Amino acid sequence: PDAELSASTVENVRVVVRVRPMDQREKLEGAYSCVSVDSVNNTIAVARNNVNPPEPARVYAYDATFDSNTSQMDIYIQTASPIVEQVLKGYNGTIFAYGQTGTGKTYTMAGSNAAPELKGIIPNSFAHIFSHIAHAKDDEKFLVCVTYLEIYNEEVRDLLGTNPHQSLDVKERPDIGVFVKDLTGYVVHNADELEKIMTVGDKNRHIGATAMNIASSRSHAIFSITVESSKKAEGKASVKMGKLHLVDLAGSERQSKTQASGTRLKEATKINQSLSVLGNVISALVDGKSTHIPYRNSKLTRLLQDSLGGNSKTVMIATIGPADSNYVETISTLRYANRAK
Ligand code: ADP
Ligand code: MG
Repeated sequence: PDAELSASTVENVRVVVRVRPMDQREKLEGAYSCVSVDSVNNTIAVARNNVNPPEPARVYAYDATFDSNTSQMDIYIQTASPIVEQVLKGYNGTIFAYGQTGTGKTYTMAGSNAAPELKGIIPNSFAHIFSHIAHAKDDEKFLVCVTYLEIYNEEVRDLLGTNPHQSLDVKERPDIGVFVKDLTGYVVHNADELEKIMTVGDKNRHIGATAMNIASSRSHAIFSITVESSKKAEGKASVKMGKLHLVDLAGSERQSKTQASGTRLKEATKINQSLSVLGNVISALVDGKSTHIPYRNSKLTRLLQDSLGGNSKTVMIATIGPADSNYVETISTLRYANRAK
């Protein structure tokens, strides 16, 4: 990233919106787009033109807005890259994808393996980190460690462990802060190794999901990379440690009250609660005047506590679809993202 871009992204919390293209099914159904993106003024306008009388557009402003032509690399450079740069300097950073199921959270975070240019933020950040390491001076040594977990119904499960069904405890110690007991961590040496580990975790997410009869859209997945570097100068070693969290959040769609009952209702309630706590935490951080940040009100924010606020950098990428059939969910996502800012 060039100097101008880094200067404009020193802000600690950014909220951006990405619109995916109309998909095949929506085209077949004759859906039309109710979303327009102004990426110069960083606004999104939403209007249903087929109602009579036509509604005035609702317009929302963000730190950046990306239309459906935005490439994966553009998204990486404009949202994730400045955060990875900070992590390499020893700060913590978090990248969230928030939105209704089917709007492109996983596409944005993981991307597709069909072509190199379709890779998402996670593999691009691996490449970024290891390219930095390859170009570092000989006297600087690096240690890269990775964990991958999911939070389902406020329970933490290890996606790299031997038992993806087991629920792990969240603990706290004065010296190291909040941590997950018995979570598997791997030391990795190159981007390929990291990608393989991500694939293993994604498979486990799937296994856990089918066994418990849930879709992965009902859980938050957190891929965390710790980069430790040490340098020896005049016999003294200086150590830096930065943590990067890459979070594919549970789908933000509301469960209709009549459809959801029992497990489903409990699940929906927990998702809504944890997403709303996250929104509260982010808006309190943006506000800057709050003396109390409600980290403790959900597992997600508790686990990310040391990487949200303070010197940490955060970006939330809210994803939406263009079709008028998703109007209500789209407005809900835009309002959430707008309030977060
Ligand atoms: P989510 O994770 O939010 O449920 P997905 O990432 O699985 O949504 O996206 C749903 C579908 O839309 C997938 O087939 C995905 O490839 C496609 N898609 C999402 N965003 C884009 C985009 N920006 N460009 C092209 N295809 C996209
Ligand atoms: Mg997904």
